[in-house]
Amino acid sequence: MTMNSAAKDHVESITKALLIPTAAAGVYARTALFEQVVEGLAAFIGRRRDAETEILRFPPVMSRQQLQSSGYLQSFPHLLGCVSSLDGDESDIRALVKGSDWLARLATTDMVLNPAACYPVYPLAAARGQIPAKGLLFDVAAYCFRHEATHEIDRLQAFQMREYLCLGSASQALGFRDRWLSRADEFAMQLGLPHRIEPASDPFFGRAGRLASISQLEQSLKFELLVSLHSDRQPTACMSFNYHLDHFGKAWNLRTETGQIAHTACVAFGMERLALALFATHGIELTSWPTPVRTNLSL
Ligand code: 5GP
Ligand code: ZN
Repeated sequence: MTMNSAAKDHVESITKALLIPTAAAGVYARTALFEQVVEGLAAFIGRRRDAETEILRFPPVMSRQQLQSSGYLQSFPHLLGCVSSLDGDESDIRALVKGSDWLARLATTDMVLNPAACYPVYPLAAARGQIPAKGLLFDVAAYCFRHEATHEIDRLQAFQMREYLCLGSASQALGFRDRWLSRADEFAMQLGLPHRIEPASDPFFGRAGRLASISQLEQSLKFELLVSLHSDRQPTACMSFNYHLDHFGKAWNLRTETGQIAHTACVAFGMERLALALFATHGIELTSWPTPVRTNLSL
């Protein structure tokens, strides 16, 4: 990527004021200034919640079995992070940690790190039985992890994702996705963010994955709201609008009231990316941000 050097300096200088690096690449401590904006954004997004939406918050880990049943290992095995730990009694563990090969003796637990906030919802909804005729809406959030190959400031290893979800008939899910897509311009304008909205695809794994990405594009299943942080040629996806067809419906035998396999859709907000986009656009001095933006974010 050729990064415009002025843009690079700008992003670097705002980053210094907002995020403190740790020994792990792509993992940062957040300053109060950064958190203030993330919290303002969370409330701003919350005010856009549809009526009759169930709110759920998830921890950063979820069931490995459930993620596997969702098909994650076929699509994104390269991004997965698993939780491992040391098994044994006190003397076993003491001996292990004294030795040099304790890493090799780690055992996988039944948990993985959440790669997106919506995965735990589908099995939870399926366990409740058929989806009511009006469909189901959720407001979820989780700390997410993806084992990314690079660690630019807008590609953190661990980041917070907020999502609105719809489970129901094909027309309910697609209608929900398209309604959010039609609100996206106004959403970004209320934050004073220059942006564009474009068709997108997920980084499916391997050769078969490239075909899956092409098919996703051809079927207009995914769109992203892009903001130029580093460069216009490689803008940053701050939100995504996803129609999953019956992928999760089939995986979890989610049925509508009429017995059809359910369709699902989600709209995802990358909290750090939105916050960074705000700082990159308006500067790190909150008092000099445009008044309507400050009002919208209660800053
Ligand atoms: P998606 O599931 O569409 O890939 O991700 C949903 C949203 O999460 C993205 O639009 C983006 O805002 C955020 N996101 C995805 N990957 C990363 C990442 O590596 N770092 C950060 N900071 N946010 C990400
Ligand atoms: Zn989702």
